[in-house]
Amino acid sequence: MNAPLAIKNAPLVSVLGVRQTYDKGGSSPLVVLDRVDLTLQSGEIVGLLGRSGSGKSTLLRAIAGLIRPSEGSVSFRGEPVSGTSSGISLVFQSFALFPWLTVQQNVELGLEAQGGLPAERRKRALAAIDLIGLDGYENAYPKELSGGMRQRVGLARALVVHPRLLLMDEPFSALDVLTAETLRTDLLDLWCEGRMPIEAILMVTHNIEEAVLMCDRILIFGSNPGRVIGEVRVELPQPRNRLDPAFRALVE
Ligand code: ADP
Ligand code: MG
Repeated sequence: MNAPLAIKNAPLVSVLGVRQTYDKGGSSPLVVLDRVDLTLQSGEIVGLLGRSGSGKSTLLRAIAGLIRPSEGSVSFRGEPVSGTSSGISLVFQSFALFPWLTVQQNVELGLEAQGGLPAERRKRALAAIDLIGLDGYENAYPKELSGGMRQRVGLARALVVHPRLLLMDEPFSALDVLTAETLRTDLLDLWCEGRMPIEAILMVTHNIEEAVLMCDRILIFGSNPGRVIGEVRVELPQPRNRLDPAFRALVE
């Protein structure tokens, strides 16, 4: 019944020797990522901090399985990732909502790859909308919502599939300071209370304060080409309770 210890302690995500190049047509290719190594363990929130253009979004796409790196490997729970891997969700800086669809329809899109009966999809979408604090806005259109609420829709669409790994690409950087802080706090509360059974979060940010407030570890990403050049461990002033037995029971 119990998994062997070695498997239990295996990283949730393992990125090994990833290199990503893009053809520039004629001249030598652009090397965006080179020798990127990182691991994510269950229970962690990890930040990725680096300059614009250093390849952070490219790395997140590779971890999500949306692009296949030119070299190296990305594995998730011990298996190579692919675009169809379930269990990984990505949240975008620009929200990436469809303006002609309602909140509920946008959130249901997160379930597209999984299929399922309309009634079941509706039920799951409404639960995610409720969880993220958008109860009552199911039938609103994105243009009727503030930036913070739009990103809540983006989060609901990511959470509706009950991912084990949440990747967030500068999720709060399009929001004003107060809105970003509220959303960040709400998300941390959900995580700490074990109300979203996610095992790990990897978050790209430009904001050092945000990284320190949210993350257990911050990976420093160098540029030209992009790779992890350092790591900072964050000692939190207030312990988070997400490692308590109730939460562990949810994710194990
Ligand atoms: P960051 O998220 O750190 O700002 P990106 O991963 O978006 O960086 O981009 C890194 C570099 O890769 C940039 O120079 C960008 O122009 C280039 N790039 C990203 N995607 C592509 C693509 N599909 N084709 C060609 N170049 C790309
Ligand atoms: Mg980016």
